[in-house]
Parts: sequence; structure tokens; C-alpha cells
Amino acid sequence: MRFGILIVSAVMLFACGESRQVAPSHPVADLVLTNGNVVTIDTQNPNATAIAITDDLITAVGSAAEIAAYIGDSTEVIDLKGQTAIPGLIEGHGHYTSFGGSLMILDFRYAKSFAEIVSQVAGAVKETEPGEWIIGRGWHQDKWAIKEDVLVEGLPLHDSLSAVTPDNPVMLIHTSGHGVFVNQKAMTLVEMANDTMPPEGGEIVRDETGGATGMMRESAQDVFRQAFSGHQGRRPAGVAEDEIRRMVKLAGEETLRHGITSFQDLGTSFAEVDLLKKMADEGNLPVRLYMAFEEEAADMQDRLAEYRMVGYANNFLTVRTIGEKVLDGALGTHGGWLLEPYTDLPRSSGLNVVSIEEIEESARLAMKYDYQLAIQGIGDRAYRELLNIYEKEFERNPDKTDLRWRIEHAQVIHPEDVQRTVDLGVIPAVQGIFACSDGPWVVD
Ligand SMILES: [Zn+2]
Repeated sequence: MRFGILIVSAVMLFACGESRQVAPSHPVADLVLTNGNVVTIDTQNPNATAIAITDDLITAVGSAAEIAAYIGDSTEVIDLKGQTAIPGLIEGHGHYTSFGGSLMILDFRYAKSFAEIVSQVAGAVKETEPGEWIIGRGWHQDKWAIKEDVLVEGLPLHDSLSAVTPDNPVMLIHTSGHGVFVNQKAMTLVEMANDTMPPEGGEIVRDETGGATGMMRESAQDVFRQAFSGHQGRRPAGVAEDEIRRMVKLAGEETLRHGITSFQDLGTSFAEVDLLKKMADEGNLPVRLYMAFEEEAADMQDRLAEYRMVGYANNFLTVRTIGEKVLDGALGTHGGWLLEPYTDLPRSSGLNVVSIEEIEESARLAMKYDYQLAIQGIGDRAYRELLNIYEKEFERNPDKTDLRWRIEHAQVIHPEDVQRTVDLGVIPAVQGIFACSDGPWVVD
């Protein structure tokens, strides 16, 4: 029996080898992923273990034996060893560069001592030009397992921090947001001395000699926050550009790490698109970006035609959306614009933020220049107003179909507007995260 199987296998191997030599029936792939669990999302072909890829395109999906026919001398073969392969994920609503910016701020939520924070800051100094600010957030002294020898009101002195940051002002924001810890360079910048009086509602924590420890409570932090934002605003264009480039890179690393290969950004500017286009030309965009302009209608009027691009630079940059101007505010702050007053704030039905006229004008421009429209409508009143605006524009342009205009967030929808949404072909762009964060506020 065993002998029989062996012979059959040998015959099959011979047969395969022979047919490949005689007439290679498949093109040679650049890359083959094999021995995996391939999620095809294809009901006709649900089970596969291998993929052949040529020129960034999937050319075949099938069993490892089928796909082996695509392997040639130049093919890179990756053995998935049973791991799952899925298509790259698309982030449907995010803010790409500000996400990258958030990653540039040092994160101290998990720091176990002040010394650990100081060493993180020292690491950042190596990547930061002299004179530039280093910002961190999320620290809490109660989480520190190891305490410093000298403490004032449970907090350390700035000396060890200042020693590693002679040329960079540092501001480390407490997890509560109610205070910051700064270094000597920052205090020198704002001309803080031993006799500096704290502002009303603030406290400069001092040691027994009267020297500031570095801890600034409540309004005493304002002068540092102002110094930082003032500095950011005054920087030459090149420095600001380098910073955005770093944001793009960091955001890319983080999104790719989570399997996200395309990212829809709901709020860019003409200046930002100029830089992203440059980076696309250089091959420096890490993920495929789909950008929406959040500019005033009056400013977009003459520029939309020139800026529209679909699948630019091997699909790395698409600019064909206006969004997410916000028709209303957020639910948590009673800003979502509702048809009826809030049960827990009866005097208010929420807020209309950007005017109806501005949205109407944006809709007109989107239609004229073939852009998608993606406006925020969180409350049911905002949602209905947007349906009205979209419907009017659709009726005015009956020849244009399949526009895929969106309503961002779409958290509260009146039941009567559900079928209307379907009939109009409008997409409620819903984000799952809000079911957790805002869900509890939506009762009945
Ligand atoms: Zn958004």
C-alpha cells in the first residue's frame, strides 16, 4: 500500500515537471505566497492556500500546487506556514497627518518611573534639532514603581531631565491635562525665575530654596503652551515640511503594522496635497491615500479642477472628495444637531456649526468638478438637512449618477430617513468606534 502511494506521487511529480518543461502555461510571478490560509472574499473560490502576484497585481489565487506553476527562477516565494493572508484593509475615515503628529508626541502612559521618562526624552533629543520643543503626554506619578530620592509634593525635580536636554525646551503633559512638567530650557525661554509669581488659578511648585521644580499646575502651564504654539507658528517652511514628512512616515508605519494599506483622510488642504503629491512622485508615501478637501467653498472654486487626481502615482494618491466639513458638533458635548431637544439638556437641540449655505455651495462645486461630497452629520437634524441638500443637487443634475456622496459619522438617523437614504444612493459613513464611545448617549 505504502509503495503504491509512493509510485503515484512519483508519477504526478514527473507529470508536473514534464508539462512545465514542454509548455509553461502560466506567466512567471514576481511573488508567490504559499502554504497559507488565504481569505479570498470570493464565494466562487472560498478556499485557497496560495497567491501569485505580478507587478503589484494578484494574478492567481488557488491551491499551493496550482500556484506552484507560477514560480520561476526570479520569483520570490514566501512560505506563510499556515498563517492567514487577507486583502489590505482600508481605513474609511481618519485624519492621516494628525494621526502621525500624535505619534511624534512621547507617550508616558506606561512609564514606570521618572527615570524612564527622562531616558525616553533623551532618546528624542537625538532626533530633534536644537531649539525645537519636545512634547510628551500621559504621565502619572502614582504609576511610578520607583520613586526619586528627592520629592516635592510627591513629584521629582527637573534637574535630571534638564541635564539631558540642554538645547531643547521640554513640556510633559500630565495625564489629567491639569499640569505640565517642564525643563530648565523651557523655563528660561519664558523667563521664569525664582521671583516669578504664578498667574491667578495656577501654581508653580517650588522646592525649599524657592527654585521651581518643573511642575506647573493649572493656569501656570499656559505660558509654556503658548510659547510652544508660538514657536511652531514661526518656524521656516522647510522645518514644517520636514515635520509633516515625519508624520506621514510614522502614520504609515503604524497603519501598515495593523494591515491597513489604504487610508481615507477626511480633511486636507491644498498645501498639504502639494506636499503629498511631491512625496508620491518620490515614492515616499507608505500607504495609499484618499484625500478630502476641508477648505472654504470660496477658496476651492478656482482650484478643484486642477487638483482632482484619481489613482495618481500607481494609486498612491487620490484627491476627489470634499469633506468633512461639519454641519453639526459631537454628541458628547451636546453638539450633535437633533430634531428634538436633548433629554438631558432640554434647552438645546445641538449646534449647526458650518452654515447650510456653505455646504450647499460645496455641494454645487462637488457636482460641477466631479468630486465626492462627505459632510459630517451626527444628529438626525443634521442628517436630514444633508439629505435635503444632496437631493436638491441630484435633482438639478439628473444625468449624473452613482455619485456615492457620504454623510460622515451618521450616528442618529430618523427612521423616516432610512429608506430615503437608500433611494437617494447616499452612503451613511458609520464608524464602529462610536458604538462604544457615543452609544450610551443615544437612548431611544
Ligand atoms: Zn473626522
